[in-house]
Formats: sequence, structure tokens, C-alpha cells
Amino acid sequence: MNIQNYINGEFVNPIQDNWLDNYNPSNGEIYGQIPNSSTEDVEKAYLAAANAFPSWSNTNLEERSSILSKIANLILEKLDFLAAAESKDNGKPISLAKSVDIPRAASNFQFFANAITQFSSEAHESVGFNAINFTLRQPIGVVGCISPWNLPLYLFTWKIAPAIAAGNCVVAKPSEVTPMTAFLLGKICNEAGLPKGVLNIVHGLGNQVGEAIVSHPNIKAISFTGGTKTGSHIAKIAAPMFKKLSLELGGKNPNIIFADCDYDKMLATTVRSSFSNQGQICLCGSRILVQESIYEKFKVDFIQKVSELKVGHPSDSDTDIGALVSAAHLQKVKSYIDIAEQEGGKILFGGKTVTVKDSENGYYLQPTIIEVSDNNCRLNQEEIFGPVVTLMSFKNDEEALSLANETKYGLSATLWTNNLNRTMQFSQKLETGIVWVNTWMMRDLRTPFGGQKDSGLGREGGFEALRFFTETKNVCIKYQ
Ligand code: NAD
Repeated sequence: MNIQNYINGEFVNPIQDNWLDNYNPSNGEIYGQIPNSSTEDVEKAYLAAANAFPSWSNTNLEERSSILSKIANLILEKLDFLAAAESKDNGKPISLAKSVDIPRAASNFQFFANAITQFSSEAHESVGFNAINFTLRQPIGVVGCISPWNLPLYLFTWKIAPAIAAGNCVVAKPSEVTPMTAFLLGKICNEAGLPKGVLNIVHGLGNQVGEAIVSHPNIKAISFTGGTKTGSHIAKIAAPMFKKLSLELGGKNPNIIFADCDYDKMLATTVRSSFSNQGQICLCGSRILVQESIYEKFKVDFIQKVSELKVGHPSDSDTDIGALVSAAHLQKVKSYIDIAEQEGGKILFGGKTVTVKDSENGYYLQPTIIEVSDNNCRLNQEEIFGPVVTLMSFKNDEEALSLANETKYGLSATLWTNNLNRTMQFSQKLETGIVWVNTWMMRDLRTPFGGQKDSGLGREGGFEALRFFTETKNVCIKYQ
């Protein structure tokens, strides 16, 4: 199935008529073409967005909110269809697309449909000066949203929903590796009555379409989710133009397990936090740190549980681990298994590709557990972003904390303990944007989301996202 750009409410071919192949990760076959767009397409999208802005930014909040709600409802109505499309495009198990990706895309629109009606600004009375200050939070204008392939519709809508809720018009680019549900979203937006030009979706390569969005002098804010290296490159382009930037980047998250935890809950959740979505979630706990006294028991139990996971075709309802997203990504992940062997890591489970019947050319890999002894090894310092976790033991709180923080990344951490003082100490000292205690990936959309250190810049989520997508202006009125 071929897809097209969505510009000014219409589906159009790329101006230069160049196309890219779209692969199905479950069998390695090309199943469609996507626009290989250029700067000209981005300019066309920008003009449509700029043209729509005066009217959209003045649309009253009830109307904006109601259109966003309609988009949310239509996503839910088409849940099965969208989940099947997401699973085919990305390789993720259909069960995951149905239970997580697509419902969350609907929640993103519904959440910001509600949030925009509650968003407020501040007033400060300057007592003794006969003056009052109030703050305006005005839409920025045309903004850019660029998203990755791991949670395609989920992350694409996480940016677009607050951007348009706040009154901006958008030029958006999904990952060229997983463009399908973004294309389908355009159709849903038309069905929901989103005015032409409010959302424009340009497909193509990062270093062409993405870079044209980031470099565009009149696209004033960029919300980007993707790799740390790309984020750094984007920051260099955007900085001289003083663009607002929100960067949600990579992670190498510690999963810290203390002996006093609720063991069974921890074990079940750790299987999920290690291998959900083939380990291709920026929040996956890829470094498992276990207290010495339970290390050997954990090792045996974890290997047992992981060995029960079924690697299979994404559309089989009992598949736990589907296909990795692309042949190139499978190669990258496998290269870390070779690195582990060179670095003296011990492969406790997995490490091999899997052949799935009738889909022999799909990109399947066993869930892989590697024991390491040095936190400075590449396996523990570099983001692998696949079904590969490392195990390491620690003696006490102090060692656990320093191992957890000894990385350039700082996205999230998970802590398993029933000790309140330890919970508070770690909550304060972990150098991450998110700390989960006795749970993982439990998301409340009102909370700030983002990372410290090389995991990013700024926070999205809740009112933080609406603040990002608005320009703040203080007005000071002096009276007699
Ligand atoms: P990527 O950086 O390669 O690409 C992300 C997006 O940026 C894609 O749409 C891509 O086309 C575009 N892009 C690439 N080069 C660009 C450039 N020069 N200018 C502008 N845009 C460009 O990342 P990916 O491989 O698609 O995704 C995986 C990465 O995303 C991992 O590092 C993962 O940790 C990260 N991620 C982070 C979060 C978070 O919330 N922090 C969430 C999901 C994924």
C-alpha cells in the first residue's frame, strides 16, 4: 500500500516524485512505498500551516477541544484496523498494539482535549505599586514535531495533540521506518473535521525532511523524540535561531532490585520492562542491578521466565516478542552480542536469531540476558534498544546508586524495595527524569515526562507540554 503526504487536508505525492520502500519486519518484504520528500514539500506544508494559523489560533477552546475528542473517538473506533497496521509496519505483537499503542494514541488526544480547557496562566498583583501583571500564553505559530519508530502513533500523537490543542499549526514527520499509522491519522483528522492545514504530515528521510523542518526559519519550536546523536545534531541547527526545543532522547535505564522487594511482582514486571516491544522502548530497564543476597536466585528465576516468552509472528495473538523493526536495527542489536563476547560478558540466555515458520526472512531475535561485571563496559554504557539486558550484582545502597548513575543517560530508573527511607534517598539522588518505585511504565499523562543528562532537554506531558507549545508573555498594567 502506497502512502502520501498530508498537506492542507489533502493527500499528495511528493513534488519530486521520489519514493522509498516500506518493509514489513515480520517477513522482510517490501509492502509499499512512501514519499521520499524534499525541502520543497516541507515548504508547501509550512505554507499550509502558516495559512491555517490565524483562524485556528482564534478558534474557541470548546471547539478545539471537541475536534480533538472526535479524533480520539475515531482512533478508538478504528482500534483493530490501526493496531493491525501498526503491527505490520513495526513488527510489534498485535496484542501490544491493541492494548498499548493505539489506546494511548486516543488518550493523547482525549487528554489534551480536556487539558486545554483547564490550562490557565498566572496574575501577580504588585502590591504597593498600583500595578497588576498577567501572563499570556499564546500559541507559537507553526511548530515542528518529529518522532521515532518504536511507538509510532503513540509518540507522534503525544506531540501533535498538545501542539494543536494549544492553537499551533503543525508540520510533522513520522519515522520513515514506520510511516503507516501517521498516514492513517491524516484521514482520521479529515473525518473529525480538523480544519485544513492545522496538521501537515511530510514523509521521508530524517536528514532531508527532518532537517528541513528543523532548519526552517519560521518553524519556531521543535519537539523531537529520537536518538541522542540526532538530538545533538538538531540542537546545533536550532540554537543559532533560538528555537524552542524539546528533546526526548535515548536511555540506559537501571532496574535496581533490593532483597526486600515483593519478589514475584518484581520478577513479572522485570520480564516486561526488559523485553516489551522487543526491548525497543526508551524506558526499558536494560541494566538490571540485583542485590548480592538474591542475585543467584534471581538469575535462575529470571532465565526461567524469559525462556517461556514466545518469539513469533507479530499477528499471532500469543506472541510475546515480535520482529525487530528493520534489518539494519537487527544487525546493530546483534553486534552488541558480539561485543559482549569480546568484552567478557557471559550470555546466560538467548543471543541467537529466530526463524519463524513461513516468515523466514523476518527480523527475529531471542530475548537475551548477559551477565557483566564492569559497569563501564560498552554493553552497560551504550543504548542497544533491543531485546538485550545485562545483569550485575551490587552489595549495598551506596554501590547500587553509583552504578545506577554511572552513565551519560538519565531518562528513567526503576527501584524495587519496601524500605521507605531507601525509596526517598534514591528518589532524590537518582539522576533521571523519572523514577518508578515497585512498578514500571505506569503513566499518568498529567506528569512531567523527560530525561536528564544526555537523555534530553525539557519536559513534555500535562501542562508542561502546553507550556512548551506556547509563548509566555507578561503584561504589566499600572493604574492610578
Ligand atoms: P532517530 O534519531 O534515528 O530518528 C528519530 C526521528 O528523527 C525520525 O523521524 C528520523 O527520520 C528523524 N531524523 C533523523 N535524522 C534527523 C535529522 N538530521 N534532522 C531531523 N530529524 C532527523 O531515532 P530512531 O532510531 O527513530 O528512534 C530510536 C531512538 O529514539 C532511541 O535512541 C530511543 O531511546 C529514542 N526514544 C526516546 C524516547 C523518549 O521519550 N526519550 C522515546 C522513544 C524513543
